[in-house]
Amino acid sequence: MLVTDFDGVVVDGMAEYWWAARQCALQLDSSLGALPELVPGAFRLLRPRVLSGWEMPVLAASIGGQGPAPGAFMADYPKALAAALAGLGWQAQGLIQLLDQVRHQALVEDRQGWLDRHQLYPWMLRRLRQCQLEGEPWRVLTTKSAAFTAELLSAHGLTPQAIHGREEGPKPAVLLRLLAELRELGAGQRWLFLEDRRLTLEAVRATPGLEAVHCLLASWGYLLPEDSEQLPAGLNLLTPELLATPLANWP
Ligand SMILES: [Mg+2]
Repeated sequence: MLVTDFDGVVVDGMAEYWWAARQCALQLDSSLGALPELVPGAFRLLRPRVLSGWEMPVLAASIGGQGPAPGAFMADYPKALAAALAGLGWQAQGLIQLLDQVRHQALVEDRQGWLDRHQLYPWMLRRLRQCQLEGEPWRVLTTKSAAFTAELLSAHGLTPQAIHGREEGPKPAVLLRLLAELRELGAGQRWLFLEDRRLTLEAVRATPGLEAVHCLLASWGYLLPEDSEQLPAGLNLLTPELLATPLANWP
């Protein structure tokens, strides 16, 4: 069973993340009107630290001069995020709803434009299509909403066995549940979890009950410069070259 993250592993949605983050930030604070339309370098640099989508409008505000400067996020991301939320008076739940609303409106008004802001990694598209052809089961585990993930996958003819979106909770908890459910059915002998956020993979490694999961760091994802160095035991780097080989060959 291949379980793959979505953003930064299946799809490069950097242009859309910035577009949606900027729209949200502008709706909440019109003084951010000078935010550039093209993805700023600081946003690209900080994206690997993002756990959930709602953090991105906060980064947009920071880039627009509201709240801690981008450098503060680089130095201590959780601390700067908490300080920014407090200073802006924004709340995670409200940001989640606003982000959904902005995306939903974009899908209704300009579906193709919204889809075009996402690029599927060609090697991942090939691999997942091959999985489908060969009947190899694969699922998506993402902090994105399942509905938006499904839109993007179906636009490319990709139909995973299931999409586990942010609605289902933290990734280690979802994996634990999946393992238990599918073991009961006698399925899923070998578990591969492909993700581009090293902290998430480390959390999975540290979760009792998930020892059997092969944790793979996608080399093409939104990585911090040091992420692919000195990987601990049980965590391996997957390159596009390895990805193309049979699943049985993967580390
Ligand atoms: Mg990711």
